[in-house]
Amino acid sequence: MTLKNIPANNNANKPSAKILVVDDEQLLQYIIQQRFRHQIRAKEYIFDYAPNGVIAIEKLQTDGTFDMVLTDINMPEMDGLTLLNKIMEIDLTLKAVVMSAYGDMENIRTAMNRGAFDFLIKPIDLDDLEITITKTLAFIEQTRARQQELDTARERLKHQAFYDSLTGLPNQILFLDRIRQCLSREQKFAILSLDVERYRLIKSSLGRTIGEQLLVEMVERVRHCMPSNATLARTGSDEFAILLDRVCNEKDIHLIAESIHQSLSTPFAIEGEIVSSTTRIGIASSDADCEQAEDYLQAADTAMESAKKKGMGSTAFFDRQMHSVAIKQLQLEADLARAISSDELILHYQPIVSLASEKIVGFEALVRWQHPIRGLILPGEFISVAEKTGLIVPLGKWVLARAIRHLSRWRSQFPHFSDLTVSVNVSGLQLFTPDFVEILENLLQQDNVQGDILKLEITESVLIDNAEAAKMVFQQLKQQNIQLCLDDFGTGYSSLAYLHNLPIDMLKIDRSFINSMLASQRNLRLVNAILNLTESLGLQAVAEGVETSEQVQKLRELNCQFAQGYFFDRALPSHEILPLLEREAMVIEN
Ligand code: C2E
Ligand code: MG
Ligand code: MG
Repeated sequence: MTLKNIPANNNANKPSAKILVVDDEQLLQYIIQQRFRHQIRAKEYIFDYAPNGVIAIEKLQTDGTFDMVLTDINMPEMDGLTLLNKIMEIDLTLKAVVMSAYGDMENIRTAMNRGAFDFLIKPIDLDDLEITITKTLAFIEQTRARQQELDTARERLKHQAFYDSLTGLPNQILFLDRIRQCLSREQKFAILSLDVERYRLIKSSLGRTIGEQLLVEMVERVRHCMPSNATLARTGSDEFAILLDRVCNEKDIHLIAESIHQSLSTPFAIEGEIVSSTTRIGIASSDADCEQAEDYLQAADTAMESAKKKGMGSTAFFDRQMHSVAIKQLQLEADLARAISSDELILHYQPIVSLASEKIVGFEALVRWQHPIRGLILPGEFISVAEKTGLIVPLGKWVLARAIRHLSRWRSQFPHFSDLTVSVNVSGLQLFTPDFVEILENLLQQDNVQGDILKLEITESVLIDNAEAAKMVFQQLKQQNIQLCLDDFGTGYSSLAYLHNLPIDMLKIDRSFINSMLASQRNLRLVNAILNLTESLGLQAVAEGVETSEQVQKLRELNCQFAQGYFFDRALPSHEILPLLEREAMVIEN
């Protein structure tokens, strides 16, 4: 409804139009009343009158319900042309039609330039007047409808830009703005950063709808633990943040964090499923003395990362030491980007041995970083950084290229080892880059070798979120005869569904199982069960982290085919592999 007046007893679909007639001639008032009496009775039109521009302005300013103005030009106190200027200032959607006996070109042009919608020459032809009124009102209605649509769209966009559509909470942009307001008021505040534990797993196993419903219900519970003036925002897919702009003593903040943990400790019942998820809370207060809003949120996130190490349902306050750890992390990120391009990465190779023949059947390529200042850095310190920053993609490509090159050389140099394979660890991000398979094909082609030279090691966690996508990539890899190993088996979710649905060739039993295998019957039974499982599924098994001859003996008894570990060899630099293979070849020949 765009015309402004909706009379009580009128047809609800038809608002009445309110028209202000500005003319010093009383006669016009009489003529209009006569001509439009039906419409006036039906409350289709409401007419009001002003004898000059000054009174017209007063009326328009005090009563904002007018839709159009019909004005004479020549009037005492303020003429119609001056009135036109003023109307534009009052309401841009208000339209004026000028009526004048002075219908010369100059008057018409001035009126039009000042925003008049139309011009009628006196004496007024009443049919023409009616048409003009109808036409003007239709135009006004259209303009206002369009304006309303624009306003709604603008509101919607504004909402989308600052609010999360699922929970209706402010998003990170708005949240940062609220922190900025606290900073500009030099007011004490605290920020709590929360994550939703196991959100990805819940979403992938129970479905998106349940995952999202969980977030909505968690938000409800968290809200009840906060003071009413606090701001709760969704700052990431499974991350929330709270701004407390009054509470700032550590004890009170702790109480709030505790009550949040408490409120989330009861599982949620969602669509017939019982779902439990807790949170970890990182806290940074205005005492952290950062420079910008972003830095405070970052500080709370850093504290949350540290809470993660403490386990489920924990809380950590930000301190300066965490800050220096975070800085070191940033430095590492920057250094790693350079390392990839400036050849600081190297590959070590750890032999994988057949337990039956004790022959080396392949190597696992393990990346190391030869840091110019810090010396050799192991992957445990930089792979997660590479994954977080996306650098894992170029890094992984480099590893693949280098490993394929080395292996193809060793194969051709040693006829005894013409079926040696190389196992390369592939991270999720890398596996799902759209050109992953194509890159691999090119690398194999460049070195003139077949896919069977290569085994790709993938951890279960990669498959949790992406079972379907993984299946597609795996099928393409199988077409190239590339073998697929599930790495660190037993440490993740070890779902039989993966083994059943995906074309996997090999399991690598995690080091932790082998380690503890001889310490308890239970652990031994576990390793035995995994080996039985691999056998019945027609898969091969590699025991990781084999360190003692007792372990070797036991694994042989349990029919494990392959092993890898310090008992045989550590991961060796590539230049030590040739002599190693030479020695092995001599043993075989003799
Ligand atoms: P992983 O794939 O499970 O590799 C086995 C790790 O166990 C290696 O550690 C290896 O040196 C170590 N290891 C081997 N035998 C023994 C043993 O008898 N005892 C003990 N205690 N440890 C043993 P590393 O080289 O530090 O690699 C750690 C992890 O880093 C790897 O675990 C893998 O997940 C990742 N990684 C290594 N290179 C790459 C790579 O090129 N790309 C990706 N995405 N990840 C990599
Ligand atoms: Mg591995
Ligand atoms: Mg492993």
